[in-house]
Amino acid sequence: MAENKNQDLKNLGEFGLIDLLTKNIEIKNSSTKMGVGDDAAVLDYKNKQVVVTTDLLLQGIHFDLVYTPLKHLGYKAVMVNLSDVFAMNATPKQITVSIGVSSKMNTVALETLYEGIKLACDKHGVDLVGGDTSSSLTGLTISITAIGEGDENDIVYRKGAKPNDLICVSGDLGGAYMGLQLLEREKRVHEGNAKVQPDLSGYDYILERQLKPEARGDVIAFLKEIGVKPTSMIDISDGLSSEIKHICKNSGTGCRIYENKIPIDHTTSLMAEEINMNPTVAALNGGEDYELLFTISMDDYEKFSKETDLKIYTIGHITEESKGCYLVTNADQEIELQAQGWNALTGNNEQ
Ligand code: ADP
Ligand code: MG
Repeated sequence: MAENKNQDLKNLGEFGLIDLLTKNIEIKNSSTKMGVGDDAAVLDYKNKQVVVTTDLLLQGIHFDLVYTPLKHLGYKAVMVNLSDVFAMNATPKQITVSIGVSSKMNTVALETLYEGIKLACDKHGVDLVGGDTSSSLTGLTISITAIGEGDENDIVYRKGAKPNDLICVSGDLGGAYMGLQLLEREKRVHEGNAKVQPDLSGYDYILERQLKPEARGDVIAFLKEIGVKPTSMIDISDGLSSEIKHICKNSGTGCRIYENKIPIDHTTSLMAEEINMNPTVAALNGGEDYELLFTISMDDYEKFSKETDLKIYTIGHITEESKGCYLVTNADQEIELQAQGWNALTGNNEQ
């Protein structure tokens, strides 16, 4: 069956594949003058500032096709880029998608990948305006570039935090990492005994956090609505600890984060307990939650009293640089934050 489809891909050729994947693309934004179909896309941003961000995803390094549905993979690959645009307080408008395809793939699989890509684009009104397509000897490779716009005065950098600013996060943390732990565990069990079906029941939330992250454009819209411009902002791709340290380093400040203020979902805690991990460690070092971490001036705090379904948590404050970057634990101890990112947590180098 799969072989027939591989054959299909070979017959189709590069141009046939590009046509298959990019047919039915409708342009949504006036800044897109030319999308797929010429030597280059043409964009017109008039007097806006343009933000550009790109990510490279390699099979076996960034994703595992054993437990990652292709539609989710396409969706996530786009969302992580849009998240970076939102983290600049900008609005994503276009993406390009480049893929390296191994001969093991078939056209149906690639169309499924693109379904996820298009779904994420539709959700945020983004145009797919181009890309590149090649065969690959080392599995599936996806590189997405996102382009967005913002007014000069609206763009928020990592560098603007000031002492006494409040540190806020747009949602709970550690869930994506716990979802990954669950998927990896069930994969190992399944590899040991192919007859055992994975038991993922009751853990939908953390699986969704890992497989289907959402870029927080809704939070950016809310901040605009209440008239708050964060003093600094970053998205949480590598864990709270590493991200807040980026903000502090770029801003020339220190910080205090309070353990009892870090939002952690119940399912995240349950899974952490199962694998004997402290959920705070998952939140600090887990990564891939794609929530926004931002600082606001104390003067803006009252504006957050406006009614909303969004949950924005205040988890600490910015200090003078000389005070360093510390977590204040539930036992009232101060522990220096380490920018471990992902790898140090498990000691493996899979990511
Ligand atoms: P070139 O030879 O100039 O690189 P291509 O034949 O690779 O052109 O691409 C033709 C058109 O299709 C271009 O507009 C390109 O941006 C677009 N394109 C190519 N590959 C993809 C892809 N995987 N996804 C979306 N658009 C693509
Ligand atoms: Mg090309």
